[in-house]
Amino acid sequence: MFEKEKIDEIVSSYKDFKIATICSHSALQIFHGAKQEKIKTIGICTEKVRELYESFPHARPDEFIMVEDYSQIPVKELVEKQAILIPHGSLVEYTGKKIDDLAVPIFGNRGSLYYERSRDRMFDWMHKSGLRTPRILKPDDIDGPAIVKFPGAKGGKGYMVVHSPEEYYSKVGTGAKTMVQEFIIGVRAYVHYFHSFIGDAGFKTTYGKVEMLGVDRRMESNADEIARQLSVGAKVPISFTVMGNQSMVLRESLLPQYMDMGRNVCNSSRDLFGGIHGPFCLETIVTEDLDVFAFEISARIVAGTNLLKSPYAIYSHGFNFTTGMRIARELKDAHKKKKLKEIVY
Ligand code: AMP
Repeated sequence: MFEKEKIDEIVSSYKDFKIATICSHSALQIFHGAKQEKIKTIGICTEKVRELYESFPHARPDEFIMVEDYSQIPVKELVEKQAILIPHGSLVEYTGKKIDDLAVPIFGNRGSLYYERSRDRMFDWMHKSGLRTPRILKPDDIDGPAIVKFPGAKGGKGYMVVHSPEEYYSKVGTGAKTMVQEFIIGVRAYVHYFHSFIGDAGFKTTYGKVEMLGVDRRMESNADEIARQLSVGAKVPISFTVMGNQSMVLRESLLPQYMDMGRNVCNSSRDLFGGIHGPFCLETIVTEDLDVFAFEISARIVAGTNLLKSPYAIYSHGFNFTTGMRIARELKDAHKKKKLKEIVY
C-alpha cells in the first residue's frame, strides 16, 4: 500500500485542486457536480468514448488526458495538474490491485477499496458492523435456492442460482473460486450514504456524520422482467446483469434501521482501516417481515446515484444535492479548512 505520509506530502503541495476520474460509470455526474461547485475537472479518457464525454456541455470535463486503456492511470500528469482522483466502480474494476499503490491522492480512503475487493474481507467488515447478512454456504451445504458468485463480478454478470450440491457441481464443477450465498427472498434496496467529517446532516459517528443521499433499485437483465419471459413460455434461467437503475424511497419506519446500519459501517471502518470518507452504498434485501439483509458494501460512489434526484438529499440539504455535488462540496470545504489530508488517501 502506498504510504499515507507520501500522499499527505503530495496533497500538501497543492495550492489548488482539480477533480479527476476515468470517463465511465458515474463520471458525468462527478464532472457535473464539480462544475456546480466551480471546481475544474479532468477526464481520463479513451478515444472510443471521447465524443460521448464531449457531447454533454454541462457534464463534460474541462480537459482530457487520453489513455490507451483504463488500466493505466497517468499518475504523474495528474499530480502535476494538482488532481484528486475520484474512485468509482469502473476505476476500481479496471485498476484492480494497482489502486493500492497509485502515487496520486484518491478521495476517501484506499483502505476501504481494499476491503471492497475481496468478498471474504467485505463479509468480515459487514459482520463487524453488526449487519445481518445472507448465510455463506459451502457447496455441500446448499439446501435451497443459493446464488453463486464468481470473483471480480462485472455488474452481476455470470452469476447463477443453484438448489443443491449436485446442481452446484454439475454447473460449476470442482475447484472454481466462488462464494455461494443463501438466496434472500424480498425487495432489493441500494442505499447511498455519505460520510463527512464537517457536514451537518445525518447521524453522528465516532468521527463525523453519516447522511443518506438516496436509494435506488437496480434493473437487472433478465431477473427484473422475468415474468414476461416466463409468461410467453420461455424457460430461461434467472440472471443478474445490471443494465440501469430506478429511483425508490423506503418505507419511513425503515429509516432508523438503515441510518444505524450506515453509522455502524462508518464506525467499524474506523477500527478496521482508519475510516471511510465520502460516498458508499449498502446493497440490501428487505424480507416480508421487514428484516434487512445486507449482501454487499460498495466503498465509493455507486451508479445508482446517477439518478440525481432524491427526497433524502433534499431533506438533508434543502435542495437536490447529487452525490457528485456532495463530493465536490466536501473537497472544497476541506481545502478551505486546510484539511484535505483527512479525506484523501
Ligand atoms: P452483487 O454483485 O453482489 O451486487 O449481486 C448482483 C445481484 O445479484 C444483486 O443486485 C441482486 O439482485 C442479486 N443478489 C446478490 N446477492 C443476493 C442474495 N444473497 N440473495 C438474492 N439476490 C442476490
